[in-house]
Amino acid sequence: MTTRRRFLTGAALALAAASPPFRPALAQGAAARVVVVGGGFAGASCARALKALDPRLTVTLIEPNPTFTACPFSNLVIAGLRDLGEQQFTYGMVAGSGIEITKQAATGVDPQARSVTLADGASLAYDRLIMAPGIDLRWDALPGYTEAAAERMPHAWKAGAQTMLLRRQLEAMEDGGLVVMSAPANPFRCPPGPYERASLIAYFLKTRKPRSKLILLDAKDAFSKQKLFQNAWKELYLDLIEWVPLSAGGKVTSVDPAGLTLATDFQTYKAAVANVIPPQKAGRIAELAGVADRTGWCPIDPTTLEAKLQPNIHVIGDAAIAGAMPKSAFAANAQAKVCAAAVVALLAGGTPAEPKLINTCYSLVTPNYGISIAGVYRPADGQLADVPGAGGVSPLDAPASTRAEEALYADGWFRTLTAEVFG
Ligand SMILES: Cc1cc2nc3c(=O)[nH]c(=O)nc-3n(C[C@H](O)[C@H](O)[C@H](O)COP(=O)(O)OP(=O)(O)OC[C@H]3O[C@@H](n4cnc5c(N)ncnc54)[C@H](O)[C@@H]3O)c2cc1C
Repeated sequence: MTTRRRFLTGAALALAAASPPFRPALAQGAAARVVVVGGGFAGASCARALKALDPRLTVTLIEPNPTFTACPFSNLVIAGLRDLGEQQFTYGMVAGSGIEITKQAATGVDPQARSVTLADGASLAYDRLIMAPGIDLRWDALPGYTEAAAERMPHAWKAGAQTMLLRRQLEAMEDGGLVVMSAPANPFRCPPGPYERASLIAYFLKTRKPRSKLILLDAKDAFSKQKLFQNAWKELYLDLIEWVPLSAGGKVTSVDPAGLTLATDFQTYKAAVANVIPPQKAGRIAELAGVADRTGWCPIDPTTLEAKLQPNIHVIGDAAIAGAMPKSAFAANAQAKVCAAAVVALLAGGTPAEPKLINTCYSLVTPNYGISIAGVYRPADGQLADVPGAGGVSPLDAPASTRAEEALYADGWFRTLTAEVFG
């Protein structure tokens, strides 16, 4: 832990050192206009970083929701250990920092005319556009799993009403019920998220409905922090969690919301509560803007985070193909800062410096048992690649006090990040 923390501090300094020199856009002429689509971890962070780097920029944030509901820690809400209100943030302070907020959805982008169309038909011109729309669920990817089905078998992979629906279903389930989860193949939002969720649901079952069980059907054979999770499951949830990997027939091939069943090629599972995390893609506006490729995600330049498919549009956060970087709020925030620095440099006619980015993903196995994985990334071969030897995971053998400490770090990270982005 100590070694890693020391390294991360070094990486953060490297990132700061790599930022381009401050050259205000006004020095070149009229104030440049930067439009940001999406007020989540990536978009709101980027809007604020842009304004902080160059206060004379006109920065407009397009976001239809008056309240942002954060996914990190939402698994605690599902397990009845946290209120949804603790996940919710408004945009008052963002607006207070000089950013214009347009409370509508972006419905189209014209990259040639450099304009964004809004839901009410109006349009906004830009010099540079930042796309940060997060994810959309692929409703065509899993037979039977439609938007209507998600009302019976919640995904809870966008926080808010879905989070509360899953929580209420677990609360209403009889002791002895079977919870069935399904996890998608890579890539998807928050690689350790399904396993943290399985852990915290198991915690809920162990403490509230001890005769119940959870089966996690997986479209993969390996997952983030796997050994750490599996060791913890053995220790804490031995008869409670059954993980079925791809090679043991874990891939769900269809679901039936009426019967609450999930089918694989080998077996059909009847659930009392079903949590289906379906395949995902970049938020739809990315596709409309022509920045998403056939995978549904957006290829980007690893130095400027500019879309490879359209000029003057940058893509950050979950929507981007960020190489080795996972789709996390931590990564979204890091990419937002690098992107803001690159955009300020480009608008001033400069050359963005090569960035280094860091990420840490914490997961909770119980409310006071935390584990983490950290990485450092830099451009290499057109991608954001791992810096060899940097980062790492929590030690496999660690006393309870270390796990408790990491749970506190997780809490501190969430408070720090949300205060920086929304506070
Ligand atoms: C259960 C769970 C647990 C997680 N835990 C962690 C964790 O512990 N640590 C961590 O780092 N990450 C975690 N994550 C991942 C994290 O939530 C995402 O990686 C992060 O939210 C990505 O940020 P983003 O800005 O790309 O997308 P989002 O935060 O989803 O923001 C996207 C925003 O864009 C807006 N938008 C979409 N389309 C449009 C449009 N057309 N016009 C205008 N606005 C639009 C949306 O309304 C939304 O506000 C977790 C995720 C889940 C599901």
